[in-house]
Amino acid sequence: MTRRTGSTLPRGHRSFLPRGGRFCAALASVGLLVGGWGLTGCADCSSKAVENDDAFRELAEDAVKIASKLRGLALPEGGVNHKVASKADVVAYIEKRIQDTGAEAIFRDQAHLLEDFGAHPEGVDLSAAFVKAAADQVAGFYDWETKTLYLADWIPSLIQKPIMIHEATHALQDHHFGLARFMEPMIGYGDPQAAVQALIEGDATLVMVDAMAEQTGMGREMVRDQVAGSGEQASAALGDAPPIIGAVLTFPYFTGLSYASALEADGGYPTIDKAYRKLPLSTEQVIHPEKASGDGIDYPRDVTFELPEALAKAGYTWATSDILGEFGVRFIIEQGQEKSVAQAAAAGWDGDRAVLLRHTSGATVSLLASVWDSEAEATEAAKALRGTKLPPVAVVQAGDRVVGLWGQRVANAEAIVGELANVMKLTEVFTYDYYVKASADAAAARKAASTPKTPAVAK
Ligand SMILES: [Zn+2]
Repeated sequence: MTRRTGSTLPRGHRSFLPRGGRFCAALASVGLLVGGWGLTGCADCSSKAVENDDAFRELAEDAVKIASKLRGLALPEGGVNHKVASKADVVAYIEKRIQDTGAEAIFRDQAHLLEDFGAHPEGVDLSAAFVKAAADQVAGFYDWETKTLYLADWIPSLIQKPIMIHEATHALQDHHFGLARFMEPMIGYGDPQAAVQALIEGDATLVMVDAMAEQTGMGREMVRDQVAGSGEQASAALGDAPPIIGAVLTFPYFTGLSYASALEADGGYPTIDKAYRKLPLSTEQVIHPEKASGDGIDYPRDVTFELPEALAKAGYTWATSDILGEFGVRFIIEQGQEKSVAQAAAAGWDGDRAVLLRHTSGATVSLLASVWDSEAEATEAAKALRGTKLPPVAVVQAGDRVVGLWGQRVANAEAIVGELANVMKLTEVFTYDYYVKASADAAAARKAASTPKTPAVAK
């Protein structure tokens, strides 16, 4: 390709899509390995429809070779399959993933939780909004079950190859590191799952971006920075989608790209290989790669607690819970305050658990119990959490801990959250396996609770 002036990247570059987002375990759980480019503003992209012909086969095979060479990973024996997908195929695939993972119910609970903070418009169906946004933005995807690369049939020729290089990288990741283990929801552990998603998507995006740099003769750094910096534009391209959709759909691609670039800069692509063996533990480690390894490593703490007795007595039951992570806490603060305030306040994150409680009347309250890197960080976080778009009922700080309650007013809220700040348990997390086990244990407990007891056998 000849060197172009101005923006070498297709101007319409928007969002690479989702396999999920951080704190909607729901989004992460949908298990999509996607590459997307918003097409609005792609006036200079010629729009040649993709056809399932020899030219497409050549394009796909070429993309796989480029990805394999750049990434330094060998192809699976027997190669990979490749197919063209229509809009209907893409929508059907996304809907099937939502159904297979039971994500719709998770979306619903997550939406209620966000509503209590004023971070999601009331009554907006998150699952439907997700399908719509994803279907609009997906340009290709990799189906790990059939080992098939798909390219959407409406993608302009200029970006067909980059998209296929991205998807081909997923095939290489799958062959070498096994992706199936990341494709099921880790309910209650959305933040670490989103961190791994950012590794997977950031890695695939980095290979794609490096291939583009090579083809255009531009410097890698410049192209990486240009793409990584376009996340906000990508989010804006989602139009009237609820803000959480833009946030979770762009995080793994753009922040993931910065993270993967930082790893690669430290020792080439083999450093990224190592990250699949020692997985990131939080979105904090993705946002700040220096906290993922070396001297500056920052292990997160898992926050656990029982439903406070006063709330149980008042008629509330535990509906769902998740780790918001630095990404989620930042998102919630950002809906009511300046981005810079949210960014600074969330940066001292060390652990949290957000719980949605439902009253017999249908009303909800949300608890957020969090721990911070220091007392000063906790003070900053408490101040920002008092400024959420819908104000909290109560926020209490105790040393490096901050606990708050949002939603329906409840009696003695200050005392309830103050007590919780003292009794919540903190467990430092050193490996991703901790989360895998904790989420499996929680799933088993849920199953046991919903299974009718066997009637006592008469003697
Ligand atoms: Zn992808």
